Amino acid sequence: MPKPAYLTADVEAFRQTFRAFLASEVVPHLPEWERNQCVPREFWLAMGRHGYLCPWLDEEYGGSAAEFGFSVVLTEELGRTGHMGLQTGFAVHADITVPYIEQLARPELRGDWLRGCTSGEVLTAIGMTEPGAGSDLAAIRTTAVRDGDEYVINGQKTFISNGMECDLIVVVAKTEPAAEPAHTGVSLLAVDAGRPGFVKSRQLEKMGQHCQDTAEIFFEDCRVPAAYLLGEEGHGFRYLMQNLQRERLMISIAAQTAAEQILDKTLPYVKERRVFGRPVGTYQHNAFKLVELATETEMGRTFLDAVIDEFVAGDDITRRVSMAKWWLSDLSNRVAYEAVQLHGGYGYMREYDVSRDFVDVRAMPIYAGSNEVMKLILARMMGLAEPDQD
Ligand SMILES: Cc1cc2nc3c(=O)[nH]c(=O)nc-3n(C[C@H](O)[C@H](O)[C@H](O)COP(=O)(O)OP(=O)(O)OC[C@H]3O[C@@H](n4cnc5c(N)ncnc54)[C@H](O)[C@@H]3O)c2cc1C
Repeated sequence: MPKPAYLTADVEAFRQTFRAFLASEVVPHLPEWERNQCVPREFWLAMGRHGYLCPWLDEEYGGSAAEFGFSVVLTEELGRTGHMGLQTGFAVHADITVPYIEQLARPELRGDWLRGCTSGEVLTAIGMTEPGAGSDLAAIRTTAVRDGDEYVINGQKTFISNGMECDLIVVVAKTEPAAEPAHTGVSLLAVDAGRPGFVKSRQLEKMGQHCQDTAEIFFEDCRVPAAYLLGEEGHGFRYLMQNLQRERLMISIAAQTAAEQILDKTLPYVKERRVFGRPVGTYQHNAFKLVELATETEMGRTFLDAVIDEFVAGDDITRRVSMAKWWLSDLSNRVAYEAVQLHGGYGYMREYDVSRDFVDVRAMPIYAGSNEVMKLILARMMGLAEPDQD
């Protein structure tokens, strides 16, 4: 089978190097980080020292102007550790939030921030979701009101990955709350942690993805210099729509990797475990189930690789990445469900990795635009929904 264009020899060689780094410096600590529900700063600093944080950035910012294949490998290999929280926290920083800073921050601020992002000294997060507005982002209530040469931010954000540990957050806020239509009043601002009024309220208790912190954040008359506005006032929604495609691609990669690695560990188990005198995987019902899931997983890989190549080529991937995101995150959940079932009672025990996979993948159909939102986008593109239909 021909290889996708993004998987160059350099990228493949890099995979081996990164895998070895993870095996020696990260994997031994994962159970502890999972228990603590937080990844220590040493992880980010070690990643930074080795050039693994945002290698796609230019050299002046500490990157290596690396092709996108390197980012794919980083996300995949973090997922293959079987600790998807680690992968989510990484993607939120390196491939979801930092691109906003790179594209939209004022030149006088961009350099210092980005150099911190590649060294691991500046960890980023993105604050879109609020208690009353998740899928319907235009309904956010956080405001950023201009006051002289500052903005005053007030509001609440929730479910923020890296929220407790972040040093810099990109906040989605309304600079013109009364604007009609509502999304035209939305802007993006950067806020650095430690500023009065930026309150990291509490770490949320999740069902899974424990190798990552998820937090609730308040802004209480939090003042930032006007220069912290990202891009232009009122253009926030446009920037989000552009960058959400990359975010959905990263989640598609994560979901595909999850399906692959869960199958990889389930196959040896069902060949080994004997029930009524035979390996449990040889019963036709179970064998066919695994054959079906393996077929879908290979088809998923082919489709995903094609979408990655399209992204690298600069094509508009909105339609196909929306398909990839809902279908692959659904697939990873079906694989995890069957993997637990095939492990029997052991699958329900924490000492078996599939039990963690089962709860870790559950977030994938929900975040980065829920799967229902993906289908809404696709329905609109197929002429099956009104443009303003919820
Ligand atoms: C682990 C985790 C990490 C996260 N990290 C971040 C982060 O870093 N930053 C951030 O800003 N957010 C983050 N989120 C939030 C996530 O993006 C939201 O949870 C998601 O957008 C859904 O919003 P909601 O939870 O408000 O659900 P709601 O919008 O209330 O939706 C509830 C249900 O209704 C469905 N639905 C909504 N609209 C429609 C419709 N028109 N038709 C049919 N069904 C519909 C949804 O799909 C969902 O199933 C994270 C969430 C989780 C679980």
